[in-house]
Amino acid sequence: MVACAAGVAALIGVSVSKNKARSATQQHQSSSWQGGQQQLPPPGSAAAEQLLASRDTPAWVVELYSTYNDRPVDCSAARTASSAASLATFKPLTVPVVFHCLRFKRDGVLLPPADWDALQAGQRLVDVANKLYTGTAIQFKLLEVRSDVHQHPYLLLPSLQAWQSCTHNSVSTAGVSCLKALASQPSVAALSTQQQVLNVLVAGSSEDSTYCNTSDSTSVCDSISLGYSGAKGPWFAASAKPSPTWSEDASDENWLFISWDMMNPKAHNSARFWDGGGATFAHECGHYLGLMHTHESAQPCDMLGADDVADTPPNQQIDAYADAAGNLAALSGWCSEFRTGGQPAAADLAAFRSCKVQEGSSSNGSVDGATVLDNIWNLQSYVPDACYMLLTPNQVERMHWAITTYRPKLVAAHAA
Ligand SMILES: [Zn+2]
Repeated sequence: MVACAAGVAALIGVSVSKNKARSATQQHQSSSWQGGQQQLPPPGSAAAEQLLASRDTPAWVVELYSTYNDRPVDCSAARTASSAASLATFKPLTVPVVFHCLRFKRDGVLLPPADWDALQAGQRLVDVANKLYTGTAIQFKLLEVRSDVHQHPYLLLPSLQAWQSCTHNSVSTAGVSCLKALASQPSVAALSTQQQVLNVLVAGSSEDSTYCNTSDSTSVCDSISLGYSGAKGPWFAASAKPSPTWSEDASDENWLFISWDMMNPKAHNSARFWDGGGATFAHECGHYLGLMHTHESAQPCDMLGADDVADTPPNQQIDAYADAAGNLAALSGWCSEFRTGGQPAAADLAAFRSCKVQEGSSSNGSVDGATVLDNIWNLQSYVPDACYMLLTPNQVERMHWAITTYRPKLVAAHAA
């Protein structure tokens, strides 16, 4: 079975080949895009179809539309096939997932409260991830959401402080030690080592004032990551610090963390937040299955380091870059507008070219005019919730290579 979905929309395939053909005259043909006249019509509209069929349409626009509205990733567009031998043997994979919702007691009351359905919340995260992974031949399946501290005593932490600290945070490495210990609990470890289940540990809030008092200097709560991958396998580059002891059998090195805010249907696990919780979960799954950040490298804009993926352009950490320039809200607004059919102008993305890579100077990236546009919609970047939209064909290839190479037991247990 081939890696990518077979029934790729014919229109997209045509557009991609046209884009390749027109690269020689890119400078002339991209002029109308650089002039700021172009707006992006709603995905799925007749105008969008017309746009995708046009020879003048830049590759990044085709890419942006290609995975929107459940269009599968078109792996025929991948720029290299260095891992083709592995891909030939890859089978569609369904990764089983168990969420572990950590809790604590304050004044005898079990918190966070179970005033929403944890099973539904977990299902929503999985559903969003599956949509983002459409056409990748990788899907996720919810097995269980554990939140009952009587049935699963390891879920109960001694205090609010412990619940906030047993997280990936930028203050202390004790948080990761705590998460590793939980992942090693017999009933958690059995899931990963015997059933090849993906364990997701959920704790900590940086946004809910009930739990996070940012004026409390002893709390780590305002330093909690949205998510984190405890799996740091050999697919990571040196700058991403792979673990020398990682193996597929190590339960303490095969888990994900997401914050409680990401699972909370009243916060990021909702349409109101563009399903940012599900996107965060999907982003961490990307790390778990073989992907690095698009900005991964020791040096910003490192052309050779970065994420080792041919079709993601080098970029600085996008949210920080935009924030420093005062453009973060504009970026979020652009993505929101695109997703609601508001026809944002392509020219409004001019500020998001963080690496100033010149056209023709690299085989790495979507080229549009003089400099390369950041991959602002990429699942493995740091972008506002509204911008998490897609994986590129080469990212999908890389995941298949990493899974086939490093997770043979996962493949044996859960490949179709
Ligand atoms: Zn990440």
